[in-house]
Amino acid sequence: MTESTYRIQGATGEWEVVIGLEVHAQVTSNAKLFSGAATAFGAEPNTQVSLVDAAMPGMLPVPNRECIRQAVRTGMAIDAQINKWSRFDRKNYFYADLPQGYQISQLYHPIVGEGQIEIVLDEKNPETSTKVIGVERIHVEQDAGKLMHDQHPTSSYIDLNRSGVALMEIVSKPDMRSPAEAGAYLSKLRTILRYVGSCDGNMDQGSMRADVNVSVRKPGEEFGTRTETKNVNSVRFVMAVVEHEASRQVDVLEAGGKIVQETRLYDPDRNETRSMRSKEDAHDYRYFPDPDLLPLELDDAFLEACRQSLPELPDAKRKRYEQDLGLSAYNAATLTADADTARWFEALLAEAARIQKKSEGEVAKASANWLLSELYGALNRIGKSLEDSPVSPEEGAELLALVADGTISGTIAKQVFEIMLETGEGAAKIVEEKGLKQTSDTGAIEAAVAKVLADNQDKVAQYKGGKEALFGFFVGQTMKAMQGKANPQVVNEAVKKGLA
Ligand code: ADP
Ligand code: MG
Repeated sequence: MTESTYRIQGATGEWEVVIGLEVHAQVTSNAKLFSGAATAFGAEPNTQVSLVDAAMPGMLPVPNRECIRQAVRTGMAIDAQINKWSRFDRKNYFYADLPQGYQISQLYHPIVGEGQIEIVLDEKNPETSTKVIGVERIHVEQDAGKLMHDQHPTSSYIDLNRSGVALMEIVSKPDMRSPAEAGAYLSKLRTILRYVGSCDGNMDQGSMRADVNVSVRKPGEEFGTRTETKNVNSVRFVMAVVEHEASRQVDVLEAGGKIVQETRLYDPDRNETRSMRSKEDAHDYRYFPDPDLLPLELDDAFLEACRQSLPELPDAKRKRYEQDLGLSAYNAATLTADADTARWFEALLAEAARIQKKSEGEVAKASANWLLSELYGALNRIGKSLEDSPVSPEEGAELLALVADGTISGTIAKQVFEIMLETGEGAAKIVEEKGLKQTSDTGAIEAAVAKVLADNQDKVAQYKGGKEALFGFFVGQTMKAMQGKANPQVVNEAVKKGLA
């Protein structure tokens, strides 16, 4: 456990920042929370709207089992209490994007209670930089429609495609103390949602957005009054909001002013927050239980099925990669940071172990290093992601096997990989056709060493005079003469022998 030491230097001394995030995550589901209308992103306006979503009189909501299931699975993934009895409430307010005149949400009895999310602030030193952030609750609610003000000079339009889409609102405790902690929490939450498959986590498409609650206090004092900055849609922006809003509050307080509890908006272009409205209290919304819906009651079989359907989660996977596969903390963290990378790595690992007839632990380090340096480097260069990598895990494993059994050297493997990327051909075929096999032919190697030593008699003299670092030079020159195709071990031996 670590205590954050992030402080803002004010004229009156140091200030501590207190942060709580409310994250809205769109539930992955083909249909809406209470209707059968579709939820695909980017559809033509108003093509995914049922009579329920348009709030036609007399329409009745019917809960979508899949949305409930996803919320429960998410709760389980953060070790949270699952409430077998929960209830929907109406949150009443008027706005043009809300045809019902109320949002169906869960105020008093949310489906998921307290849970927790572990964040790591320095992936190279997880032992000393891990912190647990409390989650207060997760409830399920409807999204609203979208107003479009910029289509026509004198009219505004409304798109109800989002109206009624299921959201999970994931409310953290005010446990974060720095921009970095807020950023790490949001990234980790997104990783978990993607592993679970309950939200695609695509913040740029609005699938996940955060309301950022920030207050400041002198260390050791009571919590200060907070402001809430709405709908922040990237990890970077959340960190910027915390930083900006905290120093704005310090300025106000040090000038003798007061922080008012209010809702603010973030403007990324100017990197500032602006006041939107004073904050409403729950009673302003006249919450009451929705009379159209029965309470939700979950039975044990349903809960058990939810639990069974969870994949291995990121923390467990990271620990397994470190402990069972012997990977470094940093590599384990990088490979498990998203579900797709972990899946790719595990396919590579399984295939590498299979062809080399070794255990996964024995091939893990080489596989991880190759993926994280060679493959990532190449993908970066050609602007592709792992998903559309031109080289498959099976093809990568074939290349790794050729290095492992000594058919090619590491240097040649890099060349072979380049050719694989360009031509799409398999490693073994390329090695065969281009004659890249590594040689352990002692005679040829010793001849090359003899020539290198003869050509560099001055250096040989220096070596013999005590400049031992030159050994590497002779090895390098011999390798070069052999066009990288000599077995490094045999070369080492031959150089030793030549210099003796
Ligand atoms: P509301 O329902 O009015 O938005 P909550 O008590 O549910 O209020 O809290 C909303 C969010 O604000 C939570 O994420 C919580 O952690 C955070 N929060 C509460 N008090 C503070 C504070 N003093 N400073 C920063 N964040 C806070
Ligand atoms: Mg709130």
